[in-house]
This record gives sequence, C-alpha cells and structure tokens, in this order.
Amino acid sequence: MQNIPLGLVGVGKIALDQHLPAIDASPFRLTATADPHAGLKTLPAYTSLQDMLDAEPSIEAVAICTPTHLRFAQAYLAISRGKHVLLEKPPGATLSEVDALTAHARRQGVTLFAAWHSRFAPGVASARQWLANRTVKQVRIEWKEDVRVWHPGQAWIWQPGGMGVFDPGINALSIATAILPEPFFLQRARLAVPSNCQTPIAASLSFTDAQGAGIEAQFDFHQQGEPTWDIHIDTDSGRLSLTRGGRCLNIANTPVIDEEEREYIGVYAHFAELVGSATSDVDVSPLRHVADAFLYGHRDMTDAFTE
Ligand code: NAP
Repeated sequence: MQNIPLGLVGVGKIALDQHLPAIDASPFRLTATADPHAGLKTLPAYTSLQDMLDAEPSIEAVAICTPTHLRFAQAYLAISRGKHVLLEKPPGATLSEVDALTAHARRQGVTLFAAWHSRFAPGVASARQWLANRTVKQVRIEWKEDVRVWHPGQAWIWQPGGMGVFDPGINALSIATAILPEPFFLQRARLAVPSNCQTPIAASLSFTDAQGAGIEAQFDFHQQGEPTWDIHIDTDSGRLSLTRGGRCLNIANTPVIDEEEREYIGVYAHFAELVGSATSDVDVSPLRHVADAFLYGHRDMTDAFTE
C-alpha cells in the first residue's frame, strides 16, 4: 500500500523527533495534525482529534503520540470512525483498556498496532533468532537515563499512568519479551518513588522463568551523561549482549551488528503491512510486566523530584 493519508495526534517530543522523519520515508502521507497547542506550519493543524477527523475525511490512519492517559478515548474515537490506529508505547494506561480497544478494532474491521518501537532496533531480530535454540541462564538488564534530558518538563510522567522510570524501562521489557525464548514473570521489585510523585524514579526488578533463569533489571532516571540501554544474556552457548538500545549486538565476544538507529522506519513499515493485510498487532506483555511491578513491588519513598 502507498500514500495512505495519516493524521498525527500529539505533536510533542516523540512525534517531532521520530515520527515525522519516519512518516516521510514510509507508505503513509501526513495529512494533518491534532494537538491543543502545537502544529506544523505546512499542514492543517487542528486542536483536537475530533476536529481533525471531521475536517479531513480522507484520513485513513492515525498515529497517537499523546501521553498515555489520553490514549483510550482518542483511539476509541478513531476506531469508531473507521480509522486504522497506531498507538505509541505504552498502548494504554491499563491492560483492560487495551483489551477493550483490541475488541473494538476487531468489530470495526480496522488495524490496531501497539507499536513497541525498541523491537525494531537493528539487533533485536537477530538476537531473537540466536536465542531461540539456547538455554538462558542469567539476564542482566540496565536501562538508565537522565530524566531531565530525555523527558524535560513532562509533568505527566510523574502522574498515575505516566509510569515514571517504566516509561523508558518498558522499552527494555518490550525487547526482553520479544527475544527471550521462555515467558518470564516477576518475583520481587523495589520501586523508589519521589515524595511528590506518583510514579517511580528508579526500579529494581527480579524475574524468573519456568527453567529458573534469573532475570535482573535496573531502571534508573538519575543517570548523568550518556544513557545505558543494555541487555546481557548468559546462555549455554556463551553471552549475547544487546547494547545501545538494541543498535549493537555482540555474541560470544564477537560484534555482529553495530548500526545507526532506525526503529521508526520499521514501525511505519510494519503498520503499512498490517493495514494492507487487514490485521492487528497488539502485544500487551511489556505492559503486563509493568502492571505486575506496580501490583507486587515494594515502594521506598525518596527525595522530592525537582525539574
Ligand atoms: P510530549 O512531548 O509531552 O508530547 C505529547 C503531546 O501531546 C504534547 O504536544 C501535548 O500537548 C499533546 N497533547 C496533550 N493533550 C492532547 C490532546 N488531548 N490531543 C492531542 N494532543 C495532546 O510527550 P512525548 O515524549 O512525545 O511522549 C508521548 C508518548 O510517546 C508517551 O506515551 C511516551 O511514552 C511515548 N514515547 C516517548 C518517547 C520519548 O523519547 N520522548 C519515546 C517513545 C515513546 P501539551 O504539551 O500542550 O500538553
């Protein structure tokens, strides 16, 4: 499929940094935007999704890049109007609302795509392939970045549904759930929550799988300087390391992949395939792990967060 008219909802950091350039190189044609304040000079800019859909009936697909607590109402409206929907990660504030959206998309005969962008990082598919026939013994995940650099002024991240450090941490979980050959589940979690926030600034998680592999994850928003987005997996055939957010893959000390970031090109190519084949792709497993951490984690109150 080519030239599919697309509306973009939420013209914030991720839309500007990643979606716009990727849409330019995709089978979609950006037709209009919806955002209460922001827009693009070259395209019709509406202050709400409803206004955009009313004024631009040619739009066939929408990409929703608003904060998570707005996702359900916006996606439900777009699906009701017969539009194919791409949801930025995480696909919803709760698991149940994502299920409700999935059922609605099925009823309406449109595509719903829960886009886990990190799964499109250059090393992920090869890592999954290599791990498929191996026994995993131990996994160490480190996902650490400076919240003031990567989420400047984003007050929503500290509110219920904003997920705090799980906003980036869920990217690591989206990779782990895609590449590890066995399903895994939470055993222990400690969440460090600033006294003036509803969501954690750091989290320490211990998972295991049915074979007893230990899967340890450290998520931290305090990191200064370069971020660390690394996953190290010890197997019966040596260590696999997926680093720099999945851009670099090393297997048994041998570099296999070292490429520049191009995740959103893959995201939009997959969205176009789904639209073309009238199918959906909604995997909630990364969100389920986050929900489990909130359900089962021990909370430690820490110093108030100031921007
Ligand atoms: P952001 O910079 O705060 O952008 C969100 C945009 O949505 C803002 O322009 C906001 O406007 C707008 N908005 C608010 N209410 C709206 C409404 N009712 N209708 C339409 N637009 C509305 O946040 P972001 O970093 O781009 O993140 C957005 C989502 O993408 C989050 O779920 C995040 O997890 C995900 N994501 C972010 C990153 C990243 O690196 N930043 C990476 C991948 C995924 P106002 O500012 O005026 O409220």
